[in-house]
Amino acid sequence: MSGFFSTDYKAARQVFLNQVQATKGITWQVSFKHPLLGKTGEELALDAVWLGDLNAAKLLIVQSATHGIEGFAGSAIQTAWLTEAGLKQLPEDTAILFLHAMNPWGFSFLRRVDEAGIDLNRNFIDFAAVPDNKGYEVLSNALIPSAWQAEDLAVADKKLADYRAAWGERLYEEAVSGGQYTHPQGLFYGGKEPSWSRSVLTQLATDLQLAERKAVAIIDVHTGLGDYSVGEVICDHPPNSLGVSWAKRWYGAAVTEPFLGTSSSVPKLGLIDYFWQTLLPDACCFITLEFGTGSTENLFNVLRADHWLAGQATEGLDKTLQQKIQQDLLTHFYPAEKAWQQAVIEQGLLRINQALEGLQQV
Ligand SMILES: [Zn+2]
Repeated sequence: MSGFFSTDYKAARQVFLNQVQATKGITWQVSFKHPLLGKTGEELALDAVWLGDLNAAKLLIVQSATHGIEGFAGSAIQTAWLTEAGLKQLPEDTAILFLHAMNPWGFSFLRRVDEAGIDLNRNFIDFAAVPDNKGYEVLSNALIPSAWQAEDLAVADKKLADYRAAWGERLYEEAVSGGQYTHPQGLFYGGKEPSWSRSVLTQLATDLQLAERKAVAIIDVHTGLGDYSVGEVICDHPPNSLGVSWAKRWYGAAVTEPFLGTSSSVPKLGLIDYFWQTLLPDACCFITLEFGTGSTENLFNVLRADHWLAGQATEGLDKTLQQKIQQDLLTHFYPAEKAWQQAVIEQGLLRINQALEGLQQV
């Protein structure tokens, strides 16, 4: 199982592509090349691979690395499915589309955001009507203080705690992580225009005529939020929608809904979910498969440190602090423990098989 987990983007991509080559039944494959090179000079790409009938009415899409550094789990699940199941489990009139490394730059450089600081999962808004997030405005300097030292952090943390006490947990979380469009170096920044990944996805959906499909299941694999080694099935479709009812029927009662407050995730702006929901109204079921790795508090703190670091000039920077921040980030999003990795593969394959079975009932 652990053989599916790689040490970096370049290796993860290679293992995935090698397995694709060894798999029968690949009917279409394109590598959308990113304009930049990776951390070690490697090519960056979103690799799209289609298994089965290109005209299938039913389709399962599995996405990895929407949040760059979180891509190890999704990439491992994609490779594991190709290795262990291949075409054997594809029902009639059903195809699978693997999207490997939605945000290849972030995967390679071990950041959650892309090269423009964009959180891809806040980028799917209408840029003619950019939403505002007044809470983030108030908290921006406390979230990313000018210096990463104990006394500055103590002042910043007090400001955050005061806001949290005054407005309550949910509004605090929405202010911090709901999405913001004003601070490019800040947390959960949605950008000022569609990202490279969004334009690739839009083109791909048009080229493959995805809007014409009868039923599409999408599984987007993430890490970093929720209980350790548990893959939470988060459904951001509106309450009582067809998407929610499909999710509950296919994946069971474990499905959580941010809009109802039953998830570790709060409602957010600009999710990639909304792209699919708009493209396929009443014909898709999007879930975020979110594997827990540590506490939410740790998540916020490693992200704050990473964003602080990204805004610093490298000259004169404390190298020990730099390495600690980068290691803490990687440890949070990609636990090295074999038991965690095994749990990821088992649950990932289970959810894929449930989606394929569920599509047959539509
Ligand atoms: Zn994520």
